[in-house]
Amino acid sequence: MYYNQNTICLLDGKYLKAADAGANFYSQSLHYGNGVFEGIRAYETHKGVSIFKAEAHFERLLHSAEVMQLPVSYSVQELVEMSYELLKRNELTDAYIRPLIYTEANMSLNSSQRTHLFMAAWRWEKLFKDKIPRLMTSSYQRPNPQAFHVEAKVCGHYVNSILATNEARRKGFDDGVMLDMDGYVAEASGANIFYEKNEVLYTPAPGHILPGITRATVLELCKELRIKIVEKKITLEELKAADGVFLAGTAAEITQVHSIDDQTPVMRWEDTFGFMLQKKYEDLVKQRERRWTLI
Ligand code: PMP
Repeated sequence: MYYNQNTICLLDGKYLKAADAGANFYSQSLHYGNGVFEGIRAYETHKGVSIFKAEAHFERLLHSAEVMQLPVSYSVQELVEMSYELLKRNELTDAYIRPLIYTEANMSLNSSQRTHLFMAAWRWEKLFKDKIPRLMTSSYQRPNPQAFHVEAKVCGHYVNSILATNEARRKGFDDGVMLDMDGYVAEASGANIFYEKNEVLYTPAPGHILPGITRATVLELCKELRIKIVEKKITLEELKAADGVFLAGTAAEITQVHSIDDQTPVMRWEDTFGFMLQKKYEDLVKQRERRWTLI
């Protein structure tokens, strides 16, 4: 449940009951998907509630709006402050925060020059519950980067993710691995993908993916842990012959992958870099000071 009678949301700078908030049925966002959004996560830490990489998320929101020519009058700092206020008003600690920039009534194919900011937050459950997801190769490719700004988080892009997820669920899997238009591995429906082979980590280079903030965090952690990581074009064969595979995303955090097309990774999860990165990521978002070293 995303909201109840007591939930407060933010609409154009005002905090109001979610049940009382409404949008215009003539919005271009509703008809054509021309809106932008973010998926952000807050954690309860020993220093109080902390929104992980809040600035980076709101910078990406403003970037997404800019490529879609949707004007936004808020600064990153204002957006960060409003998101903390929203958590406070809803007494939320471990939560998911969803800002959305959507348009006024406009049935034309020019971007609206007036936009609205909606922001909601809700208690968060694990993305795959306690399941270790089984992936399948999706028959849906990632969109052509010459047709969309694939690095931006635009509402309409998510039709692609919905198609991939629907297909995976219909066939008894938990998620799809989408390939790019050239047949290389791109990402899952809502998370980036990594694999380990012979003590090196690999992940698809930017170009066809949404280069996630969690992905960037994994790259930083690898530097710190001196794990060699290579960004490159990856074939499905390489991915399926991996020692270990994991997904990375705000919602997914670091999630072990059980299998791809029923092909399981070679190594035990606990022996992979993914396992160590999962613990390290958890410590980071929860601001725990534990020291981790590679033996
Ligand atoms: N790829 C896609 C398609 C996504 O929707 C997401 C979630 N935003 C990601 C990757 C991961 O991005 P992030 O780590 O910034 O959440």
